[in-house]
Amino acid sequence: MIKIVLFGPQGAGKGTQADRLSKRLEIPHIPTGQMLREEIAANTKLGQKVSEIMNRGELVTDWQMNEIIRDRVNAPEYQNGFILDGYPRNVEQAEFLDYQIAVDKVLFLNLPKTEVMKRLSGRLTCPKCGAIFHKIFNPSKSGDKCDRCGTVLQVRADDTPEAIAKRLEQYEEETQPLHEYYLKKGVLIEIDAAPDIEQVGLLIWEALGL
Ligand code: AMP
Repeated sequence: MIKIVLFGPQGAGKGTQADRLSKRLEIPHIPTGQMLREEIAANTKLGQKVSEIMNRGELVTDWQMNEIIRDRVNAPEYQNGFILDGYPRNVEQAEFLDYQIAVDKVLFLNLPKTEVMKRLSGRLTCPKCGAIFHKIFNPSKSGDKCDRCGTVLQVRADDTPEAIAKRLEQYEEETQPLHEYYLKKGVLIEIDAAPDIEQVGLLIWEALGL
């Protein structure tokens, strides 16, 4: 049983690595950004509320996110562990999470800004199952379709130059302080996210001592 948080800049591979880790450890993956994109695609009340905010590259309010997370992490199917990807996004959310459960490990996927820009500019995602591809670094075998479910891949609505700039600014101001927060708690593990997907996967596996 292990409760893991993944954080790091956009494009560092959080979604990709969390997905792999979730399959290997057989524990659920909780990707908050993907969950919100599904709400938007299904045109739910929450989706309608957050769609413009997300497309601008801004953060959804803490109370909206905290409510979603509280329901998940306390549900029976998450009691054997889980991987949080995209939450917490700031110290207030991290404090809220600590109030709910004890996090075992926090993986910080570290990637320099120049690499971040390269990765985000070629990213493609599946609007149906959330699988993530990259035109150069991780192309889909079936061209413009998802290898997993066959849906036509899309560029995320917030992978525009303006929204990317905004999200990186948000990351530096709001999310970067999590490094110190979790370092002080003694649960932080730093991973070099620059190598390819397989290699980063190995680094994570070793770092977790699995
Ligand atoms: P991601 O897929 O993790 O890059 O998240 C995409 C977008 O979803 C973010 O830019 C935010 O608008 C929203 N989002 C996801 N997780 C959170 C969170 N923990 N707090 C606030 N907004 C979030």
